[in-house]
Amino acid sequence: MKIPSRIKIGGHSIRVVTCPFVRDGKATVRGLTEYPERRMRLATHYLKPNHRSGRICESEMAVTFMHEIVHHVEDVYGANMSEKQVTRLAEGLLQVFRDNPLNFRAIRRKNMPLTAKGKKVMGAMKKTYGSDEKAKEVFYASANSGKLKGVHGKHKKAKKRR
Ligand SMILES: [Zn+2]
Repeated sequence: MKIPSRIKIGGHSIRVVTCPFVRDGKATVRGLTEYPERRMRLATHYLKPNHRSGRICESEMAVTFMHEIVHHVEDVYGANMSEKQVTRLAEGLLQVFRDNPLNFRAIRRKNMPLTAKGKKVMGAMKKTYGSDEKAKEVFYASANSGKLKGVHGKHKKAKKRR
């Protein structure tokens, strides 16, 4: 995965720093969350017992990133979770997000006018499905998943009326 340099959690913009090694006191750790600085650090390498270094694999980097996200979320929203709970939840969330094509972004249908293409596709779908409800369901599912592009405009702000 591509790890961003910033992530928004609560009212904070958290800096994500990737570096070869991350130290917490004397220990070398995979990830570290610093609450007052609203920062998280992720290691790309770890120290082996023979003092050589090894590269942390992609999925371990991803789960560490998720783990630090969970730490910031539980801190900001006061979930008061134990280290074990954070670890388990991060593993679980990573699996669910990786194995499912989910998009949690809010879907806004109101005030989104259809483009000429959108009207044409909607018209064709209404004919195909013989029901407006079914046509709308299929139309918006396709539009929201990105399979159907350029069918509606941007979200419009309501105009002030005097
Ligand atoms: Zn932790």
